[in-house]
Amino acid sequence: MSQRFAVAGAGTMGAGIAYVAAGSGYEVTLVEIDEARGRAAVDGIRDWARKAVERGRSTSEEAAATLERLRLVTEFTDVDPEPAVFVEAVPERPELKHQVLAAAEQLRPELLASNTSSISIDSLAARLEAPERFCGLHFFNPVYAMALLEIVIGDKTSDASREAALAVARRLGKEPVVVRDSPGFATSRLGNALGLEAIRMLESGVASAADIDKAMSLGYRHPMGPLELSDVVGLDVRLDIARSLQAAYGDRFEPPRTLIDLVAQGKLGKKSGQGFYTWVDGKKVEG
Ligand code: NAD
Repeated sequence: MSQRFAVAGAGTMGAGIAYVAAGSGYEVTLVEIDEARGRAAVDGIRDWARKAVERGRSTSEEAAATLERLRLVTEFTDVDPEPAVFVEAVPERPELKHQVLAAAEQLRPELLASNTSSISIDSLAARLEAPERFCGLHFFNPVYAMALLEIVIGDKTSDASREAALAVARRLGKEPVVVRDSPGFATSRLGNALGLEAIRMLESGVASAADIDKAMSLGYRHPMGPLELSDVVGLDVRLDIARSLQAAYGDRFEPPRTLIDLVAQGKLGKKSGQGFYTWVDGKKVEG
């Protein structure tokens, strides 16, 4: 079996998936069309590896070996064919995902997967030549810290691919849940319902962002409130997911005006330094 693992898109998620896969012994190729973003992702991965050593979670030899197993390219033609796994983690736009999956399929991966948060796996499979090899592998942010891997099984996903996906989860040290394909799966549908409603509550002046978040952290023991979590996920990502859930389920997932406006202003949350909160060096500024 091939030890190669390919990832398309070196954003928040692709970088995290590539880091965890390289740390699990796979030879990883990360395909990113935007060279600057690719370089930033590699810098971020180096930072994670350095911090893992500082915190005693890995040795400096292991961290160095992880980084050596990682390669960044800008073209699909630079990816070695027949990887064990190919995961796409490009933005949540169906047409872009179709294009990237079609290009990935030409490399004949044993398992082809999408990290989509909300788009139906069956709809993505519809244009594939080998839909039986395809499933959703939905990772969570930050990938190195989050235990969950949601495996999404489409109508055409074969039993062998389901088993392969479970084996990948085990090798990456993740806890899998297997869900049947439906838009938003188990996690994004519920998570977005909460996040969008919190934004509507903020808009109608029910409470401040900090108090809405505090209510859920203390009242329901959520590790972070829905507005802070939206900032961490990325408000552009939240908006794309809301639009795709609105198309599937109707206006109960309509994106609130505040979310649309913040994204239009480039206020994308933690990654841009401003969202519902202000962020400096990746830390939320209290006040
Ligand atoms: P992102 O915007 O941070 O990163 C996407 C990257 O893909 C960008 O660097 C972009 O330049 C690159 N890209 C675009 N077109 C490409 C192409 N043709 N080939 C190669 N690279 C290309 O997005 P993200 O937050 O990492 O989200 C990626 C996917 O993961 C989305 O489907 C999203 O819904 C899903 N997801 C996101 C989160 C989250 O918390 N952010 C969690 C789980 C799943």
